[in-house]
Amino acid sequence: MENCIFCKIINGEIPSDKVYEDEHVYAFRDIEPQAPVHILIVPKDHVASVADISAENSHLAAKCLEAVGKIARIENLSGGYRVITNTGRDAGQTVFHLHFHLLGGAELPAMIVRGAG
Ligand code: 5GP
Ligand code: ZN
Repeated sequence: MENCIFCKIINGEIPSDKVYEDEHVYAFRDIEPQAPVHILIVPKDHVASVADISAENSHLAAKCLEAVGKIARIENLSGGYRVITNTGRDAGQTVFHLHFHLLGGAELPAMIVRGAG
């Protein structure tokens, strides 16, 4: 999708620190990490948010969640981690391409990853 920053990251127009990729999923380090490990897991096909998941595209969200455990093992998050998806304005979603924040590498505070705004 035009002007979507994560679509541009996926197609290489904008550089990223990739940690994982498969047919459906791309994962890269957040530019403003809020934990020692902070990775964004996104579907390669554009879906705006959880609010836009449908019967037609829900496999893309499932593929992202399938990748979570794999990436956590790559990153040695054996102590656990948190997966967060901000949806819409009140949650502080700033990028409207579905993404799962994977946070770990330390004991996490009670509430983190509210969008920059
Ligand atoms: P949201 O606020 O929508 O839940 O999360 C968007 C996330 O994308 C934020 O944590 C922000 O730091 C991250 N982000 C925004 N632009 C870029 C970028 O160009 N590169 C990377 N790696 N992360 C980005
Ligand atoms: Zn996109």
